[in-house]
Amino acid sequence: MEKLILFLKKNKIKYFKNKEIKFYTTIKIGGKVDLIVIINKSYELIQLLLKVKKQQYPFILLGGGSNVVFSDNASKLVVIINKTSDIIRLSENLIKINSGVTINNLTNWCLKNKIGGLEFLAGIPGTLGGATAVNAGAFGKSVSDNLEKAEILTEKGEIKIVDKKYFQFEYRNSVFKYGKEVILNIFLKYINQDENKIKEKITSHIRHRKQSHPSYKCFTAGCFFKNPVKNNKRISAGKVIEMSGLKGFHDNNLLMSEIHSNFLINKGNASFRDLIDFENKITQEILKSEGIKLEREVIYITSDGEKC
Ligand SMILES: Cc1cc2nc3c(=O)[nH]c(=O)nc-3n(C[C@H](O)[C@H](O)[C@H](O)COP(=O)(O)OP(=O)(O)OC[C@H]3O[C@@H](n4cnc5c(N)ncnc54)[C@H](O)[C@@H]3O)c2cc1C
Repeated sequence: MEKLILFLKKNKIKYFKNKEIKFYTTIKIGGKVDLIVIINKSYELIQLLLKVKKQQYPFILLGGGSNVVFSDNASKLVVIINKTSDIIRLSENLIKINSGVTINNLTNWCLKNKIGGLEFLAGIPGTLGGATAVNAGAFGKSVSDNLEKAEILTEKGEIKIVDKKYFQFEYRNSVFKYGKEVILNIFLKYINQDENKIKEKITSHIRHRKQSHPSYKCFTAGCFFKNPVKNNKRISAGKVIEMSGLKGFHDNNLLMSEIHSNFLINKGNASFRDLIDFENKITQEILKSEGIKLEREVIYITSDGEKC
């Protein structure tokens, strides 16, 4: 670890030792990790990842931490928080985006630059890197619809350009979601669009979120369960929760929102253990009453640094 700290000091990269990771996630659950590093530049991200790989430290790369929950147990993990922030228009239909760009900054930039086709992302917390890894989406569209290619760092430490097929995109999933490879830059297709039209769509999407979701100040990772498949059709997990009478279900520490039944909220002091127990109660009850096996959309990070 000393070699790594020396590198961070020399390059004036911000880091914290032995700090609680919960502060870097939206659900605010998770214990202390060995090292948290905040990265602002793409070249720093590559240098750091190569160092971490060479020294064989277990690591997790996070964007906004809005789709993950960490274990409570002190973990020997290096957590890298990706705040790389550049966006470039490459051609008449392609933009290149650092993976650490927040969705909020991306949609604001698109509006200013009359770039259409990405309005569906407006209001999703986190970064485009995270959104690409989990194939985030809303209003019938997902990141995979616009992705042309990406620049990645492989497990062997090689930088390469990969096409859309490489991601093996599925509903809220890609090979990066549970993998160890890192997306450095994302190339998205766009259409030239009138500023007012873009603004209209963004405003309407944000309004819809405000009406149908609990306040984004709540400690949550958004929709907790994937929409399950029934009779070959994807149905709303929120509706299934409502049908089973679990809307608003709560214990001392956790709550299924009354406003959006699939939003699981930490009341403030929930532990990882509390969350696992709560999740088990819900999935078992729904299996019993509806015959549906709900699958978690949110990613758990175990004390060994494994994603599951
Ligand atoms: C209030 C609220 C509303 C939400 N609404 C939606 C919604 O409408 N639609 C939706 O799909 N999701 C939604 N989410 C979930 C979440 O915001 C999205 O999935 C988001 O895109 C995750 O991005 P992130 O940067 O926070 O990812 P993180 O949580 O930081 O990471 C998620 C996963 O991606 C990996 N990862 C992150 N960056 C990279 C990278 N550069 N390279 C490789 N892997 C990487 C991480 O290791 C982890 O496995 C919501 C969440 C909240 C809290």
